[in-house]
This record gives sequence, C-alpha cells and structure tokens, in this order.
Amino acid sequence: MLIGVPKEIKNHEYRIGMTPAGVRELVAAGHQVIVQRDGGTAIGLTNEAYMAAGATLIDTPEEIFSSADMIVKVKEPQPNECKMLRSGQLLFTYLHLAPDPEQTKLLIESDAVAIAYETVTDAHGGLPLLAPMSEVAGRMAIQAGAHSLEKAQGGNGTLLGGVPGVSPAKVVVIGGGVVGINAARMALGLGADVTILDKSLPRLKQLDELYGPQLKTLYSNAETIESEVTSADLVIGAVLIPGAAAPKLVTREHLKKMKDGAVLVDVAIDQGGCFETSRATTHQDPIYIEEGVVHYCVANMPGGVARTSTFALTNATLPFILTLANKGYKQALQDDTHLLNGLNIHRGKVTYKAVAEVLGYPY
Ligand code: NAD
Repeated sequence: MLIGVPKEIKNHEYRIGMTPAGVRELVAAGHQVIVQRDGGTAIGLTNEAYMAAGATLIDTPEEIFSSADMIVKVKEPQPNECKMLRSGQLLFTYLHLAPDPEQTKLLIESDAVAIAYETVTDAHGGLPLLAPMSEVAGRMAIQAGAHSLEKAQGGNGTLLGGVPGVSPAKVVVIGGGVVGINAARMALGLGADVTILDKSLPRLKQLDELYGPQLKTLYSNAETIESEVTSADLVIGAVLIPGAAAPKLVTREHLKKMKDGAVLVDVAIDQGGCFETSRATTHQDPIYIEEGVVHYCVANMPGGVARTSTFALTNATLPFILTLANKGYKQALQDDTHLLNGLNIHRGKVTYKAVAEVLGYPY
C-alpha cells in the first residue's frame, strides 16, 4: 500500500502522524511511505531521518493526497485537505466530528473512508488512541500547575515537594481516570501531598492498591470536594462523563474560600471544564486569575509537548496502521470490531451512531 503522511497545517500543530520508526516498520512490511518534506522538523524529526527509514520525501500535500491509498494524520483534516481527499481513499486521524458539521459534510462529499482515532476501542472498554494524549495531559498538568504556583505567575509561591523542614504543597486531583492517575503519579514523584477523588469505588480501590498509603483516595461528593479544594494549593480537574459536558464541580463560591494564589488546572476544559470559572486558554496565553486563584485551562495541552505527544500517539496508532496496510481496510475492519468502531464515514455515509444522531444524518 502507498501511505501518505502530510505536514499538519492547523495553527501551532507541530505533531506528525508517523515517526521515522513507523516508516521503517511499514517499509519492512513491503509498503511505500511518502512523507511531506519538513513535516517533522519542528520536533526534531529530520528529513534525513525519514529518508534513512525508507520514506520518499514529497514537497506538496497535493502530491500526497493525489497518490496515497491511505492518509495518516494527527488533527482533523482542514477544509482544503478534505477537498483533496479522493473517492475510496482511506483517512486515519483524529476527527471529532460530532461538534463539526462542516468537516462531516466535506468528508461525506469526498466519498473517502474515514477512521477516527478517538472512537477506536479496546477489549477493556478503553479508547487506546485517545489514552496516550490523556497520559500526556495528566503528566503535564502537574508541570503546568507547579509553574503556575510560582509568585511571578500569580501563584502562592509554594514548591510542590517542599524541602526538608518545610511542608510540601497539597495537590487535589478530581477524577482518577487516565489523566488523574498520571497527574497523581507526577505529583507524588515530586514529593507533594496528593489526594485523588473519584465517583468510582472500583477505581479508588485500584488506585489504593497501586500507590498504597502515599496516595490518599476519597469518594467524590459535594462535601469532600469542598473540603479538599478549599485547603489545596493545586487542584487538577480530570473528570469525564463520556459523551456529556463536564460537570461543574468547583464553583465560584468555593474559589472565595480557597487560598489566595492557589492554582486550578482544568484538563477537562475540552469538555467544557469542571470548574465554574474555567474558560479555554492557549499555550501562548495559558493562565488567568479569578477570585485570586490562578487558572490554567489550555484545551490542547499535548500540543505543547509535540515531540513526546508524537511518539506517544504513534506508538498506539502504528499497529493499526500496519493492519490496515497489510489487510486493506475492508478485511481489517471485518476482523476487528474495535477498529470497526473507529469507522465514522464510509463512502458518503456517516457510520458512527452518535455523530449521525447529533448532526441529523441517517444511520
Ligand atoms: P477517563 O474516563 O479515563 O477518567 C475520567 C474519570 O472521571 C473516571 O474515573 C470517572 O469515574 C471520573 N469522574 C466522573 N465524574 C466524577 C465526579 N463527579 N467526581 C470525580 N470523578 C468523576 O478520562 P480521561 O482520559 O482521564 O480524561 C479526563 C478529561 O481530560 C476529559 O475531559 C478529556 O477530554 C480531557 N483531556 C483534555 C486534554 C487537554 O489537552 N486539555 C487532553 C487529554 C484529555
């Protein structure tokens, strides 16, 4: 199969859909890979490294879209990319179609076959191609929170780990899923005093077994949230109710009782945020202050560490790319219901129920 990897064109997107290591594996399996020149240079993946791995470098996206059998990307195709897709061509990338009627319409018109990373499932009920980005965001949340606690950022000037003779910062993580567990792990590693809240008792039990007494676990309800948040230095918002907007668990009233210069990192901001006072920010201008509390609400946190995110994402996507290339998409989807769950658009039809329902297409 001829696999095409164009350079990402969305504003400030430095990730790329395949690393040189991925190219090497596909070439070893008998496939051809064409990569857009300079597609990875912003994150240190050089043209020379792609060529050494066996890729052919191509100057323009037009040449890639007009010849490849499968296009591998990171972000949803932008309108001019949708228009370059060909009938029957396979697209494998993040799509997030439900809130995006324009992209859905263009993909239907393209007559292409679009498999979305975010709806591919695994045998444990997880989302294996979404999880790597949650891991990155969870770990980054502590880094961002620690920086925001510094006085120059408006924080209360507490060092997460403290020093001998001085107490560490109190970190409260609301939501113990992929983001939450990765945030807790980083905060514990830095020596902070960490409490994690979740509504799922099996999840709390699992966290307790994993981390023992160094991690405090609490059942999440209005009372525990209020008492924990109002005594915290750093609060991480990491809840998810699948398919729904994030619940507003921390209110403006809570903020008034919080320590001056405490920090809120709302990782759930991509689902509307779990703090009443959250509004989405960018890597260029990541923080703002409300009620004396610093808010960090960057909606695409993994983009800030694009190199790590590229490797994390492509580690997860490569086995699926290899299967699609080796078997062809029809056989690959027939053999794997989890990959089939990723199919969102097939030759002019919406094939993912939730997207069809939200956007009013037949299913
Ligand atoms: P997940 O499903 O693995 O975990 C969510 C957890 O929240 C679950 O354990 C669930 O039991 C818990 N929860 C639900 N309601 C709760 C409540 N009221 N109190 C406490 N816990 C509650 O999800 P995840 O992968 O960890 O993602 C968490 C959020 O982070 C999502 O909104 C996701 O979209 C977002 N995210 C944002 C970025 C970013 O760049 N900002 C990146 C990745 C993920």
